[in-house]
Order: sequence, then structure tokens, then C-alpha cells
Amino acid sequence: MQITRAGQMPSRPGPEPWFTGQVRLDPLFNPAQPERVQGVLVTFAPGARTAWHTHPLGQTILITQGLGRCQREGGPVEELRPGDVVTFDPGERHWHGAGPQTGMSHIAVHEVQDGRSVDWMEPVAETDYLG
Ligand code: MN
Repeated sequence: MQITRAGQMPSRPGPEPWFTGQVRLDPLFNPAQPERVQGVLVTFAPGARTAWHTHPLGQTILITQGLGRCQREGGPVEELRPGDVVTFDPGERHWHGAGPQTGMSHIAVHEVQDGRSVDWMEPVAETDYLG
């Protein structure tokens, strides 16, 4: 058993160009071999979002606060509210973020494969973001 106490893992900014706008990453748990599952609390300021990306083994996000949005390639922009749970398939191209006027927080859970859990692509254009 391991208890990670609040404050043990420092917050860090979501780096450009993987994130647009103000994003804070709070690590929750990291896998030690042979585990794979990783959890991160992600807090997006209004207008902030990820770049387009995929996850080699998929991802589930649990919306904890605010009003946000997400989109998978070829699909509509979807609104997200606290309590919503979104699962992205392995290799499914997508983005997630805040609403234009409202912040959003989610817990992201995904698996790490060969040292990585995400493959980043280009930023989400304003026209795509606004839907
Ligand atoms: Mn994702």
C-alpha cells in the first residue's frame, strides 16, 4: 500500500504546443513496473484545450468541474459537464478542453506503453474549437 499525500507531486503547466491556453497538470498517480495505469488531474482555463492527439492504449476522462467540450475526428464538438465520462479508443484522434467562456477540470486515466501514453499532433484551430 502506498499513500501519496496531497502536495507531494508538484503542479506543472501544460506545455505548448501540446496545449493551447492556460492548462495546469496535477499528477495523481504514476505506474511502476509492471503497472501501466496513470492518472492526472487537468485544469483548463476558459478557451484552453489540448492539441489533436491519440493514445496508444486509449483514455478515459472523468469531468469533475465546469463546462467543457471534446471532439473526435469526424464527429461533432460535444459539450461536457461534471459527471460525464468519456472514453477514447486506442488510436482515436481527438481533443478535449474548456468551453470558450468556462473552465473545465477532468481526471484523465490512461495506460503507458513503452514509456508513452500519448502521441501529439497539431493544435486545434479556433474554427474547429468553436464548432
Ligand atoms: Mn486525450
